[in-house]
Amino acid sequence: MSTGEKVAKSEEEWKKELSPEQYQVLREKGTERPFTGKYWDSKERGTYSCAGCGQELFESDTKFESFCGWPSFWDAIDKTKVAYHEDNSLGMRRVEVTCSRCGGHLGHIFDDGPRPTGKRFCINSASLTFKPAEAGSSPKP
Ligand SMILES: [Zn+2]
Repeated sequence: MSTGEKVAKSEEEWKKELSPEQYQVLREKGTERPFTGKYWDSKERGTYSCAGCGQELFESDTKFESFCGWPSFWDAIDKTKVAYHEDNSLGMRRVEVTCSRCGGHLGHIFDDGPRPTGKRFCINSASLTFKPAEAGSSPKP
């Protein structure tokens, strides 16, 4: 799979490829119920990728326990991997986070995260797939 290319598919194609839950979150900007997703409580080392297109988005090194019920990260792997959009739905001013490659909805970003960024990427488990770090690989400095 080459990187940098945008992924554009019809809603029909997405519907075929994604599970109903993934489709609802990624394509219809749904939100999974807190504490129900696969990854909110995961502490395993590895990499989280977009469930829509496979682009790598977050590392377990930046995941932290926020107790909000969704996987939370204080930074993305690379700032080009995610895109931000103002979201004024539900009567709230929030910033939506999407995958920069396929446009899939991931979650929202808030300003109450830990240092060094102070950001909290609040991401739906349904929009992520997790790949465990290879055994024996050393943690990043
Ligand atoms: Zn994607």
